[in-house]
Amino acid sequence: MADSIKVPTEIAQQYFLLNGNILPASDFKQEETTIFPSVYEVIRVIDGVPLFFEEHLERLVKSLEILNYTLPWDESFIKDQLYRLIDLNQCYNYNIKIVINGLDTENKNLFVYFITSKYPPQEQYENGVHTILYEAERENPNAKVIAKSFRDAVTKKMAESNAYEAILVNQKGEITEGSKSNIFLVKDNVFYTSPAKDVLLGITRHRVIQLCLQLGYAVKEEAVPASFIQEADGLFITGTSPKVLPIASVDDRVYHSSSNSAILDLRRAYDALIQEYIKKSSVE
Ligand code: PLP
Repeated sequence: MADSIKVPTEIAQQYFLLNGNILPASDFKQEETTIFPSVYEVIRVIDGVPLFFEEHLERLVKSLEILNYTLPWDESFIKDQLYRLIDLNQCYNYNIKIVINGLDTENKNLFVYFITSKYPPQEQYENGVHTILYEAERENPNAKVIAKSFRDAVTKKMAESNAYEAILVNQKGEITEGSKSNIFLVKDNVFYTSPAKDVLLGITRHRVIQLCLQLGYAVKEEAVPASFIQEADGLFITGTSPKVLPIASVDDRVYHSSSNSAILDLRRAYDALIQEYIKKSSVE
């Protein structure tokens, strides 16, 4: 019976917030967060500070705009909700998901909850991770919209290949982004990544581009033919949970990304940037 199928839940911790109301995690219904269209953000909390909150909120508003909606709550209300959730659960280092849906109805929903979060162990930063190429394109690449069937299919493929991430290849044979991350390639100390129009504009991607430039590296935001992967010295993933994560292999091809000096430089600079942001936000 269809209604007896239990949708796996991603909620973590004891309480969540729905439209400002505190509810126990046992009342959380995953399927209510995936109705179409649902826009979302995943924000990493470090030492009780939602990392790069302002940029996440800006992207949430943009995702809504792409779908012709406006944010139905004050930005300050959303920020308060995050801090309330952190306090309620006394959870200071984990990821929070914000989901907004029901926008065509009178029951607009704002879900704010901790999600089961996985961060790469040190060993994966030191050795890199395995990835696969996967032919797919996300509709509306700039919008962060929940696309359950895409997510289920790619998760299955990654599990079969024991891959950390799938690198998407579009119909033009170009590498665009990861299934839940952005992708950068490095050749001769130049960083390459897909143009903004073709990808989800990752908060980490944006920060990483700025950092590369500050560090004196050239960055080319241009279409990356899949064949370029054969020439790259190294490549890496960027995202809220992985931060800057070197890639050790793409299908059968092996890379020394974790020891590439440009990638190492950037990885250290990104970690320092996070610490700086947390420190600054903690004293505010
Ligand atoms: N690209 C896609 C398709 C994503 O789903 C995500 C994160 O979920 C990212 C990129 C990385 O974005 P951010 O750096 O904001 O976590």
